[in-house]
Amino acid sequence: MPTTAKSIKKPVDVAPASRSMSRERRAPASGRRQGARPTGAGGEAPALRGKAKPKPDYTSPERLQKVFSALDQLFPQAQCALRHENAFQLLVATILSAQCTDERVNKVTPGLFQKYPTPQDFAALSQPALEEEIRSTGFFRNKARNIIGMAKKLVTDFGGQVPRTMEEMLTLPGVARKTANVVLGSAYGLATGVVVDTHVFRIARRLKLSNQETPEKVEQDLLKLVPLERWILFGHQVIWFGRKVCQARKPLCADCPLESICDSREKTV
Ligand code: SF4
Repeated sequence: MPTTAKSIKKPVDVAPASRSMSRERRAPASGRRQGARPTGAGGEAPALRGKAKPKPDYTSPERLQKVFSALDQLFPQAQCALRHENAFQLLVATILSAQCTDERVNKVTPGLFQKYPTPQDFAALSQPALEEEIRSTGFFRNKARNIIGMAKKLVTDFGGQVPRTMEEMLTLPGVARKTANVVLGSAYGLATGVVVDTHVFRIARRLKLSNQETPEKVEQDLLKLVPLERWILFGHQVIWFGRKVCQARKPLCADCPLESICDSREKTV
């Protein structure tokens, strides 16, 4: 449901919606803004010659606090939008959410988990059978292969339980840091990192909290800036901020509470 100017000025109802893993254009990490006057000896404006403009400190504690406060105002109760009743269900749902909306995943998983409630059930599934069940989430061959492989490893190596450490999670097929952070944070309440999905990646760069080119490196920058006690909440808040306000194609900058501190060249005001 599109958000209006009115609705993003107050806490937003974070109902399951929207695309969580959509592809997007990545902005260049650096470089002058489009249309800006060239700098340097040849193109420097006479009035500025000899007076370098001070570079804003995008990661100052004051600025970070403004970001946290705005997110707390907008999304005080931000949570994972994927429906689940336990860590295993969340793990399956997160794998299914790659390149798919959470809404679509939430339509598929209730029936799937009713038919196959345990890792043992998934481990015993044939690839074609699971492909058929999850076809509508896209990339179903890869996802089916990963989910069956993951379930088999849970059964053989972890007693049928989803492990509780990042190191162990990363041994599971189809699981990288983002998925591991989602599951460890939302199912177990373990702050092992910050979830960096497509929204968090885009917004961290727009707000110039990171200029890195990969989600893994952006996460490492965020871990230095976001207090540990905020790691889990921050990821969910920024995901909702990306869905409702700082959208990929048309960010709602005129209504954004961070507009005054945002220097993104993708701003629409
Ligand atoms: S001002 Fe626009 S680009 Fe900047 S954070 Fe807000 S919505 Fe995003």
